[in-house]
Amino acid sequence: MTLQAIKSEPGTIVGHYINGKLIADDNRATPVFNPATGEIARHVAMASKDTVEQAIAAAQEAFPAWRNTPPAKRARIMFRYKELLEQHADEIVALLTAEHGKVLDDARGEFMRGVEVVEYACGAPELLKGEHTKNVGPNIDSWSELQPLGVVAGITPFNFPAMVPMWMYPLAVVCGNTFVLKPSEKDPSAPLFCARLFSEAGLPDGVLNVVNGDKEAVDTLLADPRVEAISFVGSTLIAEYIYKTGTDNGKRVQALGGAKNHAVVMPDADIDNAASALMGAAYGSCGERCMAISVAVCVGDETADAVVGKLQQHISDLTVGDGTDTANDMGPLITEVHFDKVKGYVDLGVSEGAKLVVDGRGFSVSGRENGFFLGACLFDHVKPDMRIYNEEIFGPVLCVVRVQSQEEAMQLIDDHEYGNGTCIFTRDGEAARYFADNIRVGMVGVNVPLPVPVATHSFGGWKRSLFGDLYAYGPDSVRFYTRRKTVTQRWPTGGVRERSQFSFPTNR
Ligand code: NAD
Repeated sequence: MTLQAIKSEPGTIVGHYINGKLIADDNRATPVFNPATGEIARHVAMASKDTVEQAIAAAQEAFPAWRNTPPAKRARIMFRYKELLEQHADEIVALLTAEHGKVLDDARGEFMRGVEVVEYACGAPELLKGEHTKNVGPNIDSWSELQPLGVVAGITPFNFPAMVPMWMYPLAVVCGNTFVLKPSEKDPSAPLFCARLFSEAGLPDGVLNVVNGDKEAVDTLLADPRVEAISFVGSTLIAEYIYKTGTDNGKRVQALGGAKNHAVVMPDADIDNAASALMGAAYGSCGERCMAISVAVCVGDETADAVVGKLQQHISDLTVGDGTDTANDMGPLITEVHFDKVKGYVDLGVSEGAKLVVDGRGFSVSGRENGFFLGACLFDHVKPDMRIYNEEIFGPVLCVVRVQSQEEAMQLIDDHEYGNGTCIFTRDGEAARYFADNIRVGMVGVNVPLPVPVATHSFGGWKRSLFGDLYAYGPDSVRFYTRRKTVTQRWPTGGVRERSQFSFPTNR
């Protein structure tokens, strides 16, 4: 199959990739939109139970040989994969913008953060090195090794169609597992392209399979006893369902959920820097990021007035339009359904009594009137009992909450059901250190609005932003995708015969 054939051209059906072959079943298909024009760009096949079971069977068949492939050889394929990804970066970035809508620069950023996980996975021989102790007893040696689990599945959301799958399959595969990926049905082309590129890099057929689909496909993965573990990223209600069902079925599960990320602006902060950082963190990718800042908690009314004033100025300079136009800062929302949901939250905020300082409703882009565009929205005087404060909106809507102290700000954050990311803007090292040490959130920034850990660390939230014990990518991921085995070994020496020993063995 040539690389040309990998591309999903408009009008075609995006199928599944099983055992090194592109297939499309005749189960169902659903439209994939160009969010900037509102038009249907193509359709995506929805895998039936049978199709998903074929993918699991292919992964299971590929496992024994892949498990026994030396980590150094797996890593060599990974190095080639990284090179191929970089060679095809422009095509992948274009697919991301075409189906997700995010601006090209942002799509490139997402893609590069995914490639960084592939780079980390290139270190497999080092990452998978076990631990060895000689003479744990007389002539007894012991070692621990990290063995692969078997067939592992990944289920991913629409907002990072390249990066989030790359949080999962490169590390799962380099650890010796085989993988079935179920990407979001809303923007399926980039993950399919990236998966097929892996075959070009030399990955044996069946090691990485992709099934497109919805609940039918996901429920098949959850129920099948051949699937040993599941990594999920998406909204909290589905994450909880995946975690409960998967663990009830005896699987290892990590399920990363939704978020409401707060940025605390202290009175001593550099307000200019804080406001421009908030702009990117709140409105970048149209607010469709699990690490987007959706609440600015301003300490003191003077701070709040200054922040709101600066944000208003910046929003008037924000350019919103087709993500393919490099002059734009922000693209459209993913679908009309999501557009209606986000706009509904803006209507709700007004009726709940928050002050809508900037109203992005009614915004339209010339020549793209059917695109799913919403302008940036800014609410002030948002109260903790409002639904626009409590619920994840996942759009370009920033809520300003006014508090009178750092303690009040921290209590607000701790009381929220989500605990994915947060940050503090301050010039006071003591306040920053106290915040980072005590806040009940998994990823913390100090004057860094989007504290997304780099590939050598691991990504995850607290509270209802993560179900499970281990974070995504980085060192936690190596632990998630392996099972520890400890071997204790003695070889009889000098023909000495062993006497039975009835007491518990010790080193006495
Ligand atoms: P989603 O939960 O709707 O979908 C995620 C995946 O689950 C998709 O593959 C989808 O097909 C599948 N799915 C949807 N409904 C299902 C059901 N009823 N049963 C089984 N499977 C189902 O999420 P989304 O809208 O694609 O993505 C946005 C959400 O993801 C936001 O809540 C965002 O915060 C979250 N997210 C979290 C992180 C994180 O790291 N915590 C990262 C990115 C996105």
